Amino acid sequence: MSTPLIELRDIRKSYGGVDTPKVEVVRGISLAIHPGEFVAIVGASGSGKSTLMNILGCLDRPTSGGYLFAGKDVAELDSDELAWLRREAFGFVFQGYHLIASGSAQENVEMPAIYAGTPTAERHARASALLDRLGLASRTGNRPHQLSGGQQQRVSIARALMNGGHIILADEPTGALDSQSGAEVMALLDELASQGHVVILITHDREVAARAKRVIEIRDGLIVSDSANERSAAIGAPGLQAEDLRQRQDQGATHSGAWKGEMVESLQAAWRIMWINRFRTALTLLGIVIGVASVVVMLAVGEGSKRQVMAQMAAFGSNILYLGASAPTLREPAGLITLDDVAAVGSLPQVKMIMPVIGDKLMVRYGNNNQQFYVGGNNTHFCEIFNWPVVQGSFFTEADEQAAAAVAVIGQKVKEKLLGAQVDPIGQYILVENVPFQVVGILAGKGASSGDQDSDERIVVPYSAAAIRLFGSRDPEYVTIATADSRRVAETEAAIDRLMLKLHHGKRDYELSNDAALIQAEARTQNTLSLMLGSIAAISLLVGGIGVMNIMLMTVRERTREIGIRMATGARQRDILRQFLSEAVLLSMVGGLTGIALALLIGGVLLLGNIAVAFSLVAVLGAFACAVVTGVVFGFMPARKAARLDPVKALTSE
Ligand code: ADP
Ligand code: MG
Repeated sequence: MSTPLIELRDIRKSYGGVDTPKVEVVRGISLAIHPGEFVAIVGASGSGKSTLMNILGCLDRPTSGGYLFAGKDVAELDSDELAWLRREAFGFVFQGYHLIASGSAQENVEMPAIYAGTPTAERHARASALLDRLGLASRTGNRPHQLSGGQQQRVSIARALMNGGHIILADEPTGALDSQSGAEVMALLDELASQGHVVILITHDREVAARAKRVIEIRDGLIVSDSANERSAAIGAPGLQAEDLRQRQDQGATHSGAWKGEMVESLQAAWRIMWINRFRTALTLLGIVIGVASVVVMLAVGEGSKRQVMAQMAAFGSNILYLGASAPTLREPAGLITLDDVAAVGSLPQVKMIMPVIGDKLMVRYGNNNQQFYVGGNNTHFCEIFNWPVVQGSFFTEADEQAAAAVAVIGQKVKEKLLGAQVDPIGQYILVENVPFQVVGILAGKGASSGDQDSDERIVVPYSAAAIRLFGSRDPEYVTIATADSRRVAETEAAIDRLMLKLHHGKRDYELSNDAALIQAEARTQNTLSLMLGSIAAISLLVGGIGVMNIMLMTVRERTREIGIRMATGARQRDILRQFLSEAVLLSMVGGLTGIALALLIGGVLLLGNIAVAFSLVAVLGAFACAVVTGVVFGFMPARKAARLDPVKALTSE
């Protein structure tokens, strides 16, 4: 006689024992089932039939006793190998159908094949063919709640057959059905048995049991009769032999499945669940949305203002040094930069041009129009040092400087605001603190390129004229120096420092600075801002992550039964892990994308408000990656919790 497919040796199962009284539900059952058999296990309610079936189907482990599947001890199999058995060897049909509520009939039927790694096209075709064969061709797209009980049970039979269903384990398959549907289901099982499937039918109904070729009766966890012992049980079985199955298992348990199909299915299922709970999901995702949006906006604003500063620098030249007075210590007064200093520094070979500056906001009048503008005394190097040309008329000359001539070159805004568009400004007289100056030139508009609109509200007059006629002081407020070589700014600075130290008798009562220092100062303020926004982002992401974890824990609890069904159809622990992890990742991906969209929206609003923003792809991708990582990190715990659920407990949970 061939090796039995299933052999139980003194199987016992007891529940309780710790805080509840220990009850032994299966009390020493031994039986062998051979290929091709149609067995009914019959007994009163509570006699231990379902418990026995769960053990037979490897959904549960016995407390003691041996279970050999195709001659191999099941107790030695790891969880993946048990999953293989459930997926490839068994097909379950339950009294309560156990279909996944959110999936269509077709999707429910395809599920075991997904875990088996069957290619998509083959899977679709087989599921359709099975549904067609069971008379459900027109119902493939319906979800379980749109099907009658009989139809649902036929879907679950199709699911049991999806991967072959060599051993059909049917626990009260007709228990919830009307007699007509029940008869149909029984006819189906008859047919399957005659085609070579091993059918193990569990029922409390003797009439139903009578259709099987072999009837095992159990009472209080013990076999009281077995018709196989009365008749000869050996059958020239047409079905799969035990050896074949075992061989297949040895090959199959190591296969890793088609991750692509599983991934697509996981994502589809995840999306469905998310959509069903969209309000709750949206609320939970706020943390991630805010986190991602603040990272992206922060970096965009930072980058925008940096670019603005750079533009200003480019507009004004970057080889410029500034020399001003400064107090050497807190107790001493600031020094005085004199025109003699200017002359001395100007004669250094490293210095290309030098320009003393004196200026202030002064009241300026033209006709009846009175307005304040910055009026600066500069010399003829102004245009070159600031890279700022005259567009109309001409700049004042060296002769004007020598003569302290009352001439002025005005900025674009001064022209617009003070003189208006109609008058030709050249040759007009304006009163600066009641001193008449004749306009000789108009400066090009600077604001557009530098972003600093105030720079065009400026009047330039000869230094000598400003000193004598406007400020009554000959000493410059500060000195602007253009270095001869823009790559040697630091060297030039050192040379000037040495000279000044000598001129000021060893007292450093002056200060040298350059644009690089300005940039650094700017960068420092920006860093503080970035740090602040960065911590908001980090906290939001953390809150978002906790949100994801919370929603995933809730999902796992709500869907424990679904997890059980998936395990019964052959999902491995890692399939369940992947399923729930991909839900967490999808969740945080949606949060990340929403955050990016929100950031772009905020950026648009800021741009309308004239704030410079510059989005960088790196920042956007980085923030998105952060969101996904958050999903993985915080989704892992709930996903692992789901994967480690006990199949029977999950399946029988409410
Ligand atoms: P049947 O399917 O024959 O109606 P079951 O196998 O479902 O019977 O249950 C047999 C007995 O085991 C019942 O008395 C039931 O109360 C008990 N039982 C089943 N599952 C558990 C469990 N998880 N914990 C404690 N007792 C259980
Ligand atoms: Mg039962």
